Amino acid sequence: MHAAILLAGGSGRRMGSAVSDKLLHPIGSTNAFRLSCEAFLEASSIDLFVLVFRDESQREEIKKEFELASVKTGRQVPCQIVKGGKERWNSVSNALSACDRSCEFIHVHDCARPMIRPETIDRLAGEVSQSGAIAVARPLSASIRKTFQPSLDPHVPQKTECLDRSALWLMETPQAARKDWLEDGLRKARKQGIAVTDELSAIELTERKVAFLDPGYPNPKITKESDLAYVEYLLEK
Ligand code: C5P
Repeated sequence: MHAAILLAGGSGRRMGSAVSDKLLHPIGSTNAFRLSCEAFLEASSIDLFVLVFRDESQREEIKKEFELASVKTGRQVPCQIVKGGKERWNSVSNALSACDRSCEFIHVHDCARPMIRPETIDRLAGEVSQSGAIAVARPLSASIRKTFQPSLDPHVPQKTECLDRSALWLMETPQAARKDWLEDGLRKARKQGIAVTDELSAIELTERKVAFLDPGYPNPKITKESDLAYVEYLLEK
């Protein structure tokens, strides 16, 4: 059994005051949260949903959005709604405890990435049973430089280093894993006081190997206000 944890419990602090909730903010006639729900509902491999909300008023809204997505896709899948935690990994932990015992695989998705497609979710579901842990990621095409004094004014000349991009991957979501691996990883992170920022980082604390899947199409994350216009442009295309 595969469960999707759809994260909407963040504060969206980086968005600025014009956007009160980046996941529910209109994008054409829809929004990022509904688009994410539709993609996962259209993926036939997903048997259960856990939606993670931020506060009571948002809870009602995301419930409505999930219902609209179910009507649009014509698929009714069992769904639970749980409250998020302080950090992203706290939200994932809360959602994991709400997952049915029969869940073998977990797919965690940041609903701030609304361009994810059902076929990618189904591919992840197929591959996670082989690898145990796999995430959407893409090889880097840009040159990346590392600074040694990150707080320094970037206009001031400083020593930097060019990283070998052939070894670097940009991590995205969904990230899918065996449920027991993810639970082990998050337990270890909690014990060691490490604030992991994604699921693969938690799993790697348990010395397990992880795999990547390059989707081959843009799967941007809405972080700034201008990202909303970019997603709208991609949708229109
Ligand atoms: O803030 P950021 O966009 O990086 O968060 C990534 C995803 O994780 C978003 O979908 C956000 O709603 C979710 N999140 C959460 N609980 C938190 C922090 C973030 O569900 N405490």
